[in-house]
Amino acid sequence: MQNPPNLLDMINALISTPSISSANPDYDQSNRPVINLLANWLNELGYQTEILTLDSQPDKANLVATLGRGPGGLVLAGHTDTVPYDEGRWNYDPFQLTRANGRLYGLGTSDMKAFLALAIEAAAFFSVAQLKEPLILVATADEESSMDGARALLAAQRPQARYAVIGEPTGLRPVRMHKGILMESIHVRGRSGHSSDPALGNSALEGMVKVLSELLDWRRELQAQHMNPLFDIPVPTLNLGYIHGGDNPNRICADCELHIDLRPLPGMEIGALREALQNRLRIAVENSGLELSCHPLFEATPAMETAATSAIVHSTEELTGYRATSAAFCTEGPYFNQLGIDTVVLGPGDIDQAHQPDEYLAEDRITPTVELLRKLIHRFCVNPPT
Ligand SMILES: [Zn+2]
Repeated sequence: MQNPPNLLDMINALISTPSISSANPDYDQSNRPVINLLANWLNELGYQTEILTLDSQPDKANLVATLGRGPGGLVLAGHTDTVPYDEGRWNYDPFQLTRANGRLYGLGTSDMKAFLALAIEAAAFFSVAQLKEPLILVATADEESSMDGARALLAAQRPQARYAVIGEPTGLRPVRMHKGILMESIHVRGRSGHSSDPALGNSALEGMVKVLSELLDWRRELQAQHMNPLFDIPVPTLNLGYIHGGDNPNRICADCELHIDLRPLPGMEIGALREALQNRLRIAVENSGLELSCHPLFEATPAMETAATSAIVHSTEELTGYRATSAAFCTEGPYFNQLGIDTVVLGPGDIDQAHQPDEYLAEDRITPTVELLRKLIHRFCVNPPT
């Protein structure tokens, strides 16, 4: 195999190198073999490659590969990990690229290892001598589970560039905003006792009634205060997804736990939301003698918004023929935006195929994607705006 190999060989190599990430350690795998493949191909193309190991998970790493230099430039970014797959429910081998029905089947074809190969295919067209601003390929770890890869890049303030495209599955239409996700556990603790005498205990379940009522009031207020018509669901959502409390009807029960999922719009800041949540619930159970604690179920992902006026939004709209819109899923975009990089999410796959058995990428998306990426590289690296 020549190095870097042809496009389908690259995609096949990425798909056949498992890199599942999961909060469940039984499924979780290292992404280093995928990072090594990408780094080798990009080294061959003359890129300066840096493998940045995650402090939080030493068996995982991000890759930052740079051609050219300068303060501006374009990042093409994607995550190297996939979700776990439904064993026995695939008609094709999830870890082998299969061409059939005008499609490329395999785990990560749509979401989104194949994009990394397409980015290399597009990038290979350019020599360093042509670039006035750098072209940077970034491959991240753990997007599907902890977002630790993107968080590590933010902590390291890497990469530095002006614009980025993240090739998540958007059907080749630009996305410049999405909601965030915050999942919180709320625990009410009281005192247990015999049900025949209310004075013998302090019911956590009755305390939870106050919590639930306060949350529904808060939701009403949030939805009255925040509205963005660019989203299909134009208001923030708050879902009560799990509740468990008590154990027996003849006991006053001391524990009740609730899990909520809150999806804020751009402009609603995670820290401020958690503070508001805790303050309101504390007041709701004040003077009840109950203890209340809140903790995040995982680290929250902020909402994303890139200005409609940004050059990367304009360019991707012009080149695709679609107005930049919103997505219903989270990405690493807000972390790139926090690095000062105007970011658009735009990739060849379809979200309907992601996280499904028989995930595929339609073959007729390949050429338009490579051509689009070449035009963007030309516009932002070869002939950059001044
Ligand atoms: Zn993805």
